[in-house]
Amino acid sequence: MSGVSSNFFSTKLVLSDPEIFQAIGNEVQRQASQLELIASENFVSEAVLEATGSVFTNKYAEGYPGRRYYGGCEFTDVVERLAIARAKKLFGADHVNVQPHSGTQANVAVYMTVLQPGDTMLGMDLSHGGHLTHGHPLNFSGKMYHVVSYGVGKDTEKINYTALEDLVIENKPKLIVIGASAYPREINFKLIGEIARRNGSLVMADIAHIAGLIAVGEHPSPIPHCDFVTTTTHKTLRGPRGGMVMCKQVFGKDLDRVVFPGNQGGPLVHVIAAKAVCFKEALQPQYKSYIQQVKKNATELAKSIQNSGYRIVSGGTDNHLILVDVFSKGITGKQAEIALDKAGITVNKNTIPFDTNSPMITSGVRLGTPALTTRGMTEAEMSIIGKLIGQVLDNIDSQEIIQKVHSRVVKLSSKFPLYQQSRT
Ligand SMILES: *Cc1c(COP(=O)(O)O)cnc(C)c1O
Repeated sequence: MSGVSSNFFSTKLVLSDPEIFQAIGNEVQRQASQLELIASENFVSEAVLEATGSVFTNKYAEGYPGRRYYGGCEFTDVVERLAIARAKKLFGADHVNVQPHSGTQANVAVYMTVLQPGDTMLGMDLSHGGHLTHGHPLNFSGKMYHVVSYGVGKDTEKINYTALEDLVIENKPKLIVIGASAYPREINFKLIGEIARRNGSLVMADIAHIAGLIAVGEHPSPIPHCDFVTTTTHKTLRGPRGGMVMCKQVFGKDLDRVVFPGNQGGPLVHVIAAKAVCFKEALQPQYKSYIQQVKKNATELAKSIQNSGYRIVSGGTDNHLILVDVFSKGITGKQAEIALDKAGITVNKNTIPFDTNSPMITSGVRLGTPALTTRGMTEAEMSIIGKLIGQVLDNIDSQEIIQKVHSRVVKLSSKFPLYQQSRT
């Protein structure tokens, strides 16, 4: 039996908890039969799944390698040291902390390292592509700190670095946060670093989405230009759900103390083991080819959707994701998400810059290619999927057309099996 079969179809679980066993089985089926285009999702390898499901979930290991508050950490230390060493190699970072439980926890750690409550930070507006943790009023970041938001230019829909520097000069933020959840263009980390140094600010890059691209040189790296770099490990990086902070050596000690004991207890050692596996995978040449294909696929998908008559925000993409302005043809992001879901195409509604609809309705949808590229799809499939998306969006009230698209989706996804061995 493979690792996946023992995880998904273990006889232990089916006997002890048939309800959860059934839900997992259904989720395996759902993931395999739909076209997953949520830009923040991916499919991890069976090796990553195996490490995530390992006995390290039993272990308490507060502290750091060689300095633990619990006994029995000798193998935990092996795991965490390997994760750190591999992350350093992958990104060229000075100092790495692999313990943050999520991307949000990684950002909490940096803010607590350099900011006091009430201090000023600059972050990208959520509705322009930023993240909740970059200072949204409903998030701890917006409540704890004085947040000044920047965004994209109305004409270009790209970050306006001149306007950003004007805000820095005017507000003298202690920290500038650069990075996004829904920004399809290359980010100029070098320029941000220069702006920060000219004005006496620190700078944190949040590469949660584009970490995989940066790891293989398919997006310029923030490491030489930024004091801190945070990331998730589960998006383009294709590892377990989790976070990580990289920083300049001078901040290393303070950062580690903020992560533990500052705002977390015991690390998730099973997840750190899976992070280490993910970093090893990302150091292989096949991973670089994978990321290159992710980008080619995003470019092709954008072209195909554009050919169906829909406007692509900023006119295209430089990375793994695209934003489609569906409201330009009179439908809302919410309607688009629901109709596409019925056709077996999974996307999320998303605000677009200067959106006139609320965040629960939105004018856009966000699409990303990391997950489908992991399944082996290339430009040929992207071209077809773009057309299918166009057909659904043009006919959101036609059950007949949505059904037709759905059967094509099922056929297409069955050609690219996921976790094949779980069936044997
Ligand atoms: C996804 C994301 C995060 C948060 O990650 P979680 O693991 O969901 O907490 C933070 N920043 C950016 C830019 C993201 O896209």
